[in-house]
Amino acid sequence: MMELKNLKGVGEKTYNALLSKGIKDIPSLLYNLPTSYKEYRLTRLIPDIVVNVKAIVTDTVNIMKLKNVTKVSFSASVEGLIIKVVLFNQNYLKNIIHIGSEVVIVGKFDARFRTIEATKIIPAPLYKEGIFPEYNFDNINNTTIQRIIKEGLEYYEEEYSIIPSSYLNKYNYPTGKSLFLAIHFPKSKEDYENALSSLKYLELLDFTLRMSTIRKNLEETIKEPKNIDLSKLKEFISKAITFELTLDQKNAVNDIYLGMKSNHPLNMLLEGDVGSGKTIVSIISSYMSYLSGMQSLIIAPTEALARQHYNTFKSIFNEFGVNVALLTASVSSKNRNIILEDLKNGSIDIIIGTHSLLSKEVIFKNLGFIVCDEQHKFGVNQRKTIREKGINPDVLYMTATPIPRTLSLTLFGDMKLETIKTMPLGRKPIKTEIYSYRDYVGSVLSFVKKEISEGRQAYFVSPLIDENDSTDITSVIRIERDLKTYFKDLRVGLLHGRLSSIEKDEIINTFKNKEIDILVSTSVIEVGINNPNASVMVIIDAHNFGLSSLHQLRGRVGRGTDYGYCFLMVSNSDEREKLKILEETQDGFRISEEDLRQRGPGDYLGRDQSGSIKFKYANLFKDDNIFKNALLDSKELIKDDTILEYYQDHLYNDNFD
Ligand code: ADP
Ligand code: MG
Repeated sequence: MMELKNLKGVGEKTYNALLSKGIKDIPSLLYNLPTSYKEYRLTRLIPDIVVNVKAIVTDTVNIMKLKNVTKVSFSASVEGLIIKVVLFNQNYLKNIIHIGSEVVIVGKFDARFRTIEATKIIPAPLYKEGIFPEYNFDNINNTTIQRIIKEGLEYYEEEYSIIPSSYLNKYNYPTGKSLFLAIHFPKSKEDYENALSSLKYLELLDFTLRMSTIRKNLEETIKEPKNIDLSKLKEFISKAITFELTLDQKNAVNDIYLGMKSNHPLNMLLEGDVGSGKTIVSIISSYMSYLSGMQSLIIAPTEALARQHYNTFKSIFNEFGVNVALLTASVSSKNRNIILEDLKNGSIDIIIGTHSLLSKEVIFKNLGFIVCDEQHKFGVNQRKTIREKGINPDVLYMTATPIPRTLSLTLFGDMKLETIKTMPLGRKPIKTEIYSYRDYVGSVLSFVKKEISEGRQAYFVSPLIDENDSTDITSVIRIERDLKTYFKDLRVGLLHGRLSSIEKDEIINTFKNKEIDILVSTSVIEVGINNPNASVMVIIDAHNFGLSSLHQLRGRVGRGTDYGYCFLMVSNSDEREKLKILEETQDGFRISEEDLRQRGPGDYLGRDQSGSIKFKYANLFKDDNIFKNALLDSKELIKDDTILEYYQDHLYNDNFD
């Protein structure tokens, strides 16, 4: 293979400039894409668009200096019309513009003032029509880099690809040398766009093939089918659950049952809005595991949520002889040791907890079922650690953050997706309104007062960006103080991440028991807390939350028989605009799509997962069509054993997680 530094025109300085951009050999030179393309075509003199027109200079150049700006102007004749041309900071032009010289002017034409504000003046004999890639090297200009690429292309050796060329031909995608010609020396816009699509397609195809391989591997994983006594299960459901399951809940329960009885591990993602009733599905499933003689593990991202699950599970399982335990960081070391022992000897049937459950010391007798609540809060590696605590256990992931379809296919292509769409009967929409602080006292606080006087309760939430950031806590403390001043006769409580879990529990309990009217809190209440008597949620500086978080937060109210109300406080119209969709819809999926659009996938999913969806060429949201093609084609390609085996061998050899 020809070395980069041996190419003509690559001296030491150029070589180092290339190296600093990660270009170390001919393939990396060719795969270094232009940052943009500029197109030059002669046009007619049309107002309000960027024109490229031929002109004859008709007078001398006028130069004016205003502070550090140099304004160059002259008159020229274009299509028989005398117009004025203006440019800024291109002083050197005075040397090429003389009366009578023929030039091409690039710029926007203002017909009213017969003026072109030019971005470029080129002597007519030097003007070339065409498309010109731009590369953004500090020390190498575009012409030089193109010359080097042209030279490098001479030595390019076609790479081996496992993908048959018939797939690329199907879409007229160029490959090999013609791919690079289209990228670096395009003849038209279609040329390079098609070449870029080709790269995106190959990248997405590679990704979807990896996903399919993981899925195939899972399908080939064998586990001991669970032996579940159906009549006992039915008895449990009719006795323990006082309401009728919704159709979606029934479907989920059925599919989990079938999955547990199959000889491949269940791997399911259950999506459903806050309050849609996922918890009960996980309770029934844990009982299935119990009936088959196996242990279950329920992991939640926060202590408050773990405790709430613990209380729910315990109250239901108490009379069925199922032993439920809680393990979090605040369990004393003496109790922790007892729990660890009981997990090992099998006397605990269901363990519920937080990250503490990830510890190496947590060992099971026979873990058969795992529930991972709010799964997006756990990273890929953490989920792997949990799974490995059992022998090919069944796993149910649950999330209230609806994941747009493209993303879920990408991130969870190895999972069965199940959605709870219908809310349990009687759940009412939460009336949501955006207010500015001008109306805080007059409208919002007086509404809160009215609700409380009718026996209901309210949340006031202020964003907590970092649990250790004291300024956020100051802000809830201030809100609490202001409310106490304003509502002299009401009882106001304060909850934030700096409190110990015992203190947190205490304040949550006083709120549930109606011993306080208003709970001022940071976003620690985002997941979990359930007080059906609370009817108002006021969110201060609401724009600091993502849309999905706000949707989760408002799901805290309207959980009882009364309507829920949510007030989003903002300071300006930009913030209002951002949050508007929350006034318009209760549909978690639409909200999550918009959230994703506003924030991008990295922020949307959190750091742990964004790594796995960073593509070099493709953009999951803009390149939806290419993605669909790749997905379909990968399903066909994976049937070919050569391809499957190739991917099984190469699955983990790069950064893929
Ligand atoms: P999620 O975990 O999805 O946020 P939960 O499981 O906590 O929702 O359910 C919210 C509330 O709705 C709970 O009080 C639960 O008992 C109740 N619930 C769940 N399913 C039903 C149903 N099918 N009919 C009536 N109420 C239900
Ligand atoms: Mg829940």
